[in-house]
Amino acid sequence: VLQELIKAEKMDIVSHLAASISHEVRNPLTVSKGFMQMSVDEEISAETRRIYVDFAVQEMDRASEIIDDYLTFAKPSIEQNDKMSVCEELQHAVNVIKPLANMNEVEISLPVIKQEKYFVSGERKKFQQCLINILKNGIESMPEGGSLQIGLSSNHQEITLTIRDEGKGMTQEQMNRLGEPYFTTKEKGTGLGMMVSYSIISGMNGQITVDSEVGKGTCFTIKLPPLKEMIPSETILT
Ligand code: ADP
Ligand code: MG
Repeated sequence: VLQELIKAEKMDIVSHLAASISHEVRNPLTVSKGFMQMSVDEEISAETRRIYVDFAVQEMDRASEIIDDYLTFAKPSIEQNDKMSVCEELQHAVNVIKPLANMNEVEISLPVIKQEKYFVSGERKKFQQCLINILKNGIESMPEGGSLQIGLSSNHQEITLTIRDEGKGMTQEQMNRLGEPYFTTKEKGTGLGMMVSYSIISGMNGQITVDSEVGKGTCFTIKLPPLKEMIPSETILT
């Protein structure tokens, strides 16, 4: 009976997701189509045409962002246990997000550390998506630019990763709603990024906590269990 229930619930989620995806992807696609149609008008200037095409591309990016967010959430987690170096994964995520950071005049600082200590297990693609979601939120919270600081430390039990911005911050009410599907304060937000990030980290047996103050900034802390076999033996002995 329990199996049946779980199955029914999954089916329900799947059909709900399918309906949401088609609904949410259709909007940017419709807008994109409109701009493409306007851009072939021979009467308009080259500059106007450029602007139209830019808008069209932006909306397509948005459609693909929505699909990415949904896919991670909807995909049944095929147990994939990649051995990952947190430093390398961070470096990679930072490289991916760099263009957006540069555009927003946000400086990202990564700590310089001996990376041997920081190994975790999980699905690389998902971990990347989680890091990128949180970095992206940090950048988006600083429309006037600023600095995004990444920290990394560890003890025997856990690896602690912090991502701190000096952006607009969140009220207590906003913090409580963080991770709730569709909760967004952005005009063009999906409200799915944090939900997906929470589910990814909990799938890795980790935890995300948030500390934020309006007008000061936000700090996300991710705690992950270290990969046992990767802990140097002297660390275990002492
Ligand atoms: P989206 O970014 O599409 O709005 P998310 O799930 O990524 O969706 O984030 C949900 C909401 O949480 C955001 O709209 C914003 O209000 C808040 N939030 C998340 N990260 C931050 C941050 N670093 N600073 C301020 N607010 C944040
Ligand atoms: Mg987001």
